[in-house]
This record gives sequence, C-alpha cells and structure tokens, in this order.
Amino acid sequence: MIEIKHLQKNFGKNEVLKDISLTIPAKQVVAVIGPSGSGKSTFLRCMNGLEAITGGTVKVNGHVIDPQAQRKVLQKEIHAIRQETGMVFQQFNLYPHKTVVENVMEALLVVKKMNKEQAYVIASDLLLKVGLAEKEESYPSQLSGGQQQRVAIARALAMEPKLMLFDEPTSALDPELVGEVLKVMRDLAEDGMTMVIVTHEMKFAKEVADRILFMADGVIVEDANPVEFFEHPETERAQKFLRQVS
Ligand code: ATP
Ligand code: MG
Repeated sequence: MIEIKHLQKNFGKNEVLKDISLTIPAKQVVAVIGPSGSGKSTFLRCMNGLEAITGGTVKVNGHVIDPQAQRKVLQKEIHAIRQETGMVFQQFNLYPHKTVVENVMEALLVVKKMNKEQAYVIASDLLLKVGLAEKEESYPSQLSGGQQQRVAIARALAMEPKLMLFDEPTSALDPELVGEVLKVMRDLAEDGMTMVIVTHEMKFAKEVADRILFMADGVIVEDANPVEFFEHPETERAQKFLRQVS
C-alpha cells in the first residue's frame, strides 16, 4: 500500500526527515508517536504530497512521488494519491457557511461531479456512521469540537479513500470529547481501513494500532508492535519519552 524508500525532507538547511524507508501493507493501522518537532507531521504530509520531498521516493497505491521525475509526471502522481487519500488534521477546517451535510457533500459534487441527490445519499449515510445523523442541517459553529471533527472524518471518507492520514485529530479537543472521535477511528480500523495516525493518545495507540513508529530527530527510532513497544521499548530515547508521557 505504502512504500517509502530513503525519504529525505529538508527545510532549507534543516534536515527534518533523514533517510526513512518502510513499507505499510493494506489494512494496517500505524500510530506515529514521538517528541514535538521530531518530524511526525512532515512525514505524514510527505505521504500525500502536501510537502515536496527532497530525496527518495514515496509510493502510495502504485503512484510514485519521485522528486527526480518530470514536473508534469510528479504532479499527476500526487494528484492521484490525493484522490485516494483522506486527511484529517488537528484543526477541522470545515466550511463555516455550509451545513454539516453540505460540507460532506462538497467533494462529491465538485470532484466526483455527482448530482445533489446522489451526493446527499452518501453524505447522510456517512453522517449516520459517525453518529451525527441528527446534525445534518446544523452549521459547524453549532457543533462541539468533537462533533466537528467527526464531520471532518465523514467528509474525508466521502471520497472513498484507500488510505486515511490523521495528524493529532484529538489534540485540539476538550478531554471529554476525545473519546467520541477515537471511537469513530476505532470503527474505521475495524472496517479494515489503512490508517496512519500521528497521536499523543498512548492508550488508543496501544489498543488500536497494529504497529508503532517512534520517531525522534527525523528518524524512525523504533518500529514495533504496540505490546513490544510499550512494555519493552528498546532505546533509551523511547524509554525517556514514555516516562514523560505516562
Ligand atoms: P509536533 O508534535 O509539535 O506537531 P512534529 O513531530 O509534527 O511536531 P514537524 O511539524 O514535522 O514536527 O516539524 C519538524 C521540523 O520541521 C521542526 O523543526 C519544524 O520547525 C520544521 N518545519 C516543519 N514545517 C516547516 C515549514 N513549513 N517550514 C520550515 N520548517 C518547518
Ligand atoms: Mg505535528
């Protein structure tokens, strides 16, 4: 599903990702954890072409991001990856002047060129799935943060992505709203969605992820299953991190 080879990303002289190689098979749920500034968001953004990569290659569903490729070819590949990848951020970025259901329908109308009736059927089904059927006609400002984030997830799912990327989806939420968003993500994982999740929710990572990537200073320092990682972290770096977050 995802094949990353010798990925490098620099911001000017700052080497943010240093020679990362790894493969993520379909249906795997991967949690990326690590200290602030270690490159987690950048890593995620390189996976769908939101950041231009400096070196190496990123392959997603057979589409290749290769900085050596011709510009046109590269743009086409990134476009293909974006079509098949949903992304959810810490900030929900819903359209404030559209209702909840219109937010979810938007990409179906604009990108998939569906008619309103078709788009509505899909959007309202997705809102049911994330537990917001009764909020279809509300505006984002009338929802709690947890509800807005669930709309953002439904909106991403509307494109029927093969891969979902999450960048700290619960970090901006009040603690009591975190659970409802994690539940939606847990359901998605159980449905077999391939997911890469940057998170500070260690309990969630331990319970839901198939694999933990511990990142520090732009390097994947540990790549292990959750039980292995949380119970027997190998490196001093990971041990220290776990002491700080627990
Ligand atoms: P956090 O846990 O705080 O979200 P992170 O692990 O997601 O941190 P990144 O946001 O990927 O870290 O940042 C990694 C490094 O890249 C940092 O040193 C940051 O300053 C730098 N960086 C990120 N985005 C940019 C940018 N657009 N321009 C310049 N430097 C950037
Ligand atoms: Mg980040």
